[in-house]
Amino acid sequence: MRIFDPHIHMTSRTTDDYRAMHTAGVRALVEPSFWLGQPRTSPASFHDYFDSLLGWEPFRAAQYGIAHHCALALNPKEANDPRCIPLLDDLPRYLVKDNVVAVGEIGYDSMTPAEDTALATQLQLAADHGLPALIHTPHRDKRAGLRRTLDVLGESALPPERVLLDHLNETTIADATDSGCWLGFSIYPDTKMDEHRMVTLLRSHGTDRILVNSAADWGQSDPLKTRAVGDAMLAAGFTDDDVDQVLWRNPATFYGLSGRLRLEPPAPDTPVDHRTGNSTLRGGE
Ligand SMILES: [Zn+2]
Repeated sequence: MRIFDPHIHMTSRTTDDYRAMHTAGVRALVEPSFWLGQPRTSPASFHDYFDSLLGWEPFRAAQYGIAHHCALALNPKEANDPRCIPLLDDLPRYLVKDNVVAVGEIGYDSMTPAEDTALATQLQLAADHGLPALIHTPHRDKRAGLRRTLDVLGESALPPERVLLDHLNETTIADATDSGCWLGFSIYPDTKMDEHRMVTLLRSHGTDRILVNSAADWGQSDPLKTRAVGDAMLAAGFTDDDVDQVLWRNPATFYGLSGRLRLEPPAPDTPVDHRTGNSTLRGGE
């Protein structure tokens, strides 16, 4: 089973996770930028973070045979912090980088006017840079959040077929499907969607335009939930080809809209700056 996790925050995961993911079949992933769990105090904090998503994490992933790409953006929560908003002016110089395959994750957190502005601005940036967008739907008040998202999207220059709506569930799948966007589902160990609810949704909806991710980060989460969905699909009678469509071809097609996806990871011994001055390769390599 080959797996492409379209939304996972590897910066908060260990090398053991990379190893276990490779064993489970993960060969590619996209890491969207997000908040740190505590507020950033300036755009410079984002610059360092973006540089690590463009350099250090792809290097770390390559050690485990996984192709790493990223999506960059000002996240919805920090769009409310006046100290962070100037990042919007810096984004264009990051969005031209080879490894950036989308603008994201953007969307609503508390549905404030500042979030409206950041969402509209970043949808325009995606259109200007020929990139698709990853839009997170809010965890609270999901249906209202999705409707407001679709209103802003409708006024933007970005067509729905270049948008992935994420963190969907049974209450939002109908509106999301009607929008013409791609549909993302985050599978968590104990809350929100689990693999069995996901299989039930796949039975009624089919496998078209559906992406499944672990959204694993520094919170309660499991980077192997994509594999759990594949196993649950097979147990429920879906074919290997159905599983391949959901876990590989759909995310590859969506992020392939960027024209920048490279699904072979760089060779682990590719000489890059990260080899010097760090301890990742300690132990005789
Ligand atoms: Zn996320």
